[in-house]
Amino acid sequence: GWRSRAAFKLIELDDRFHLIQPGMRVVDLGAAPGGWTQVIVKRGASRVVGLDLLPVDPVAGADVIEGDFTDPEMPEKLISLLDGKADLVLSDMAPNTTGHAPTDHMRIIGLAEEALHFAFEILAEGGGFVAKVFQGGSEKAMLETMKQAFTLVRHAKPPASRKDSSELYVVATGFRPDRLKQAQ
Ligand code: SAM
Repeated sequence: GWRSRAAFKLIELDDRFHLIQPGMRVVDLGAAPGGWTQVIVKRGASRVVGLDLLPVDPVAGADVIEGDFTDPEMPEKLISLLDGKADLVLSDMAPNTTGHAPTDHMRIIGLAEEALHFAFEILAEGGGFVAKVFQGGSEKAMLETMKQAFTLVRHAKPPASRKDSSELYVVATGFRPDRLKQAQ
């Protein structure tokens, strides 16, 4: 069985966008308790690292790290564990909620933006990026950056995501590091 209900969201996203391909190197940000990590391994990725602030019980076929993705040493650590740059960076990260909707929205977007810049450091050319955002889509600036740096940027709300939650995922494919350099 899957360790989390969240696993079904990734299954649905992957059924629709075919993100995980056999042999890929994949990073799972905000992995605890490990549902997405299980799905990534099951779908044939060859090197998988799940990372969370909280401990994650071992997942066969993956490495799990307890730590903060914003740790300056993390990109290098992940590239070394994956034995190369990542083909896919997935983030189901969520900050602790305050109950104050505007604050929570800002925090989740901040986290997604940080995850995007993290992905720029570890993604191989042609790679993909998925992050949890909020309804209304990504922040304009983030979306613009993503459109520069990826061939295709889409939003999706997987059916397993509660209808009454404003959670949404941004799905970017076809990383173009050369375009990124021009934009910055
Ligand atoms: N996808 C997971 C699964 O299927 O089991 C569920 C992820 S849960 C919704 C979000 C996670 O993001 C939390 O476990 C939280 O600790 C983690 N998180 C939040 N900020 C983080 C950070 N800066 N670095 C690493 N993990 C973080």
